Amino acid sequence: MAMGQYGFWNKILHVDLSRRETRIEEPGPAFYRHYGGGRGFIAHFILKYVPEGAEPLGPNNVLVFAPGVVTGAPVPGAGRHSVGAMSPLTGGYGEAESGGYWGAELKRAGWDAIVVHGQAETPVYLWINGDAVEIRDASHLWGKVTGDAEETIIEEVGDSRARVAQIGPAGENLVRFAAIGNDLNEFAGRTGMGAVMGSKKLKAIAVRGRTPVPMADQKVLTGIAKWVSSTMEQNHRSFHEFGTGDNMQGKSLQGGLPALNYRLGQDENVGLIDARAIRDQVRQEMKACYACSVRCKKVVRIEQSEEDAHSEKGERIAVDPLGRYRVDPKYGGPEYESLASLGSNLGIQDIVAVCKSNEICNYLGMDTISAGATIAFAMECYEKGLLTKEDTGGIELNFHDPAVVVQLLEMIGHREGYGDLLAEGSQRVAERLGQGSEAFLTTVKGLELAMHDPRQAAGMRGSYLLAPTGGDHMGQHDTKGGMRNVVGMCHFLRYDEQQTLDILNAATGWGVNQDDYFELARRTATLARLIDVRSGFTRKDDAFPARFHEDLPMHKGVTAEQEAAIVEEFYGRYGWAIDTGIPTRTTVRALGIEEDARTVAESLPD
Ligand code: SF4
Repeated sequence: MAMGQYGFWNKILHVDLSRRETRIEEPGPAFYRHYGGGRGFIAHFILKYVPEGAEPLGPNNVLVFAPGVVTGAPVPGAGRHSVGAMSPLTGGYGEAESGGYWGAELKRAGWDAIVVHGQAETPVYLWINGDAVEIRDASHLWGKVTGDAEETIIEEVGDSRARVAQIGPAGENLVRFAAIGNDLNEFAGRTGMGAVMGSKKLKAIAVRGRTPVPMADQKVLTGIAKWVSSTMEQNHRSFHEFGTGDNMQGKSLQGGLPALNYRLGQDENVGLIDARAIRDQVRQEMKACYACSVRCKKVVRIEQSEEDAHSEKGERIAVDPLGRYRVDPKYGGPEYESLASLGSNLGIQDIVAVCKSNEICNYLGMDTISAGATIAFAMECYEKGLLTKEDTGGIELNFHDPAVVVQLLEMIGHREGYGDLLAEGSQRVAERLGQGSEAFLTTVKGLELAMHDPRQAAGMRGSYLLAPTGGDHMGQHDTKGGMRNVVGMCHFLRYDEQQTLDILNAATGWGVNQDDYFELARRTATLARLIDVRSGFTRKDDAFPARFHEDLPMHKGVTAEQEAAIVEEFYGRYGWAIDTGIPTRTTVRALGIEEDARTVAESLPD
């Protein structure tokens, strides 16, 4: 390590699965300052290695695992990493973030990122034990659900403290919204990164590290960690107590709860499945991510019969009153997005079934948002008669039926029967179905919207319209949200702007200010935008589908004028042409990304 180098190791691992080779890239400190990590790394490597028009599930896509320069710092919220590639769901820039421990473990192993190239001929997994990297056979793991695969991998590597990121059967079967899970209950869920991993026949990456990343100013980080603990009551009490989803009743009262494919905005029975109901009825405990005292991750446990209603310690365990399902605590529990997408948006008021649906998505490795939204779309098509029992192989796709949802999720993950088409995501189903079914879509750029209705939650509009990934709620379009995805920091921590900068500077020693921070946000967003431009997205794709132009009982639909105002303000601020949304040459030059932009240079306006 060079003197004064903090927050990263200057070591990026490239793995070529076609050639079964690995190599180490040492890009130098300026690279880290320029790209930051997360989205910055992902977009850089896509532009560098993936040719225009490459098939996302083909050998020319790269899959990038990218923590940020803050990931692994000893401070709450620093356990995040991003995964990115060209998306098989949207055809454009793909990226998803995850928490837990895996990203920090990768940093502790001495790596800043992994870039996976090519495709293996037969299933493999990676075992990264500090410096040592092995490509191992995974034929015996192919087809296993995530819990079983992790158990086998941990046994094989002989280290119970190894952390595993992996795909389940959904990724192997190239479900277009397959996710990459880590620590069994954390997911890089959005945009189908699990399908890219499946196309590379890469089942898992197990990693073990023993060396903390050097920090520039440990004292500042210790102070901030203490601040989080000492202000838990004011700042993070609700997260600590419930995780996400404690205010679903409030959302319903405000008329913004996704219900029956985003048609109603309200569900008077949502209290049956919200985070309060989870706490009171089926929760076993709350768990944390790396270095985080907030502990906001739900763990639910449900047994099928009264006979199993007591744990080894004699504690009472929840039982499915209908004796249908068992829910294994190793898969965590549903957060808000899953409670809404697998619950209220499908008209499901059965807490056990919602927990089961969440568990299925976790052991098969699927994004709960896109899975639920695709089922909701199909159910509305069925309700309107565009789909019939003949199409679905005899399944009645009715809202309010938990057994059908559970059945469909398994069918999607295994691409069985009608599940094979649903595994393509709602936009492709609509293209196949025609008959005006696109009126029921809830997608932007092909990605199903997260569970915050933009008609009520006006603050989400910009994220959905302008995130390079499509209908994404992670604030990827703005400085605060987007930057947390770059440097590797959880969105739930209530750090103000100064604290966020303090963490970044204490980790790296860079001494950046707000302007530098905004420039990094603008650079990484512009890189991702260039990929979307190259993929054929235009200004008209920065728009909501018809569903969100319709009125809700309590809220007006979003108007074209409102959309245009948001989009144009953003284009202006980021230096993209107002009429097309394409980054200008001047902007590309000012951000120092001419080399990244070379394949699209000719199409850039001045
Ligand atoms: S706030 Fe919750 S999700 Fe975020 S790092 Fe802490 S435990 Fe994980």
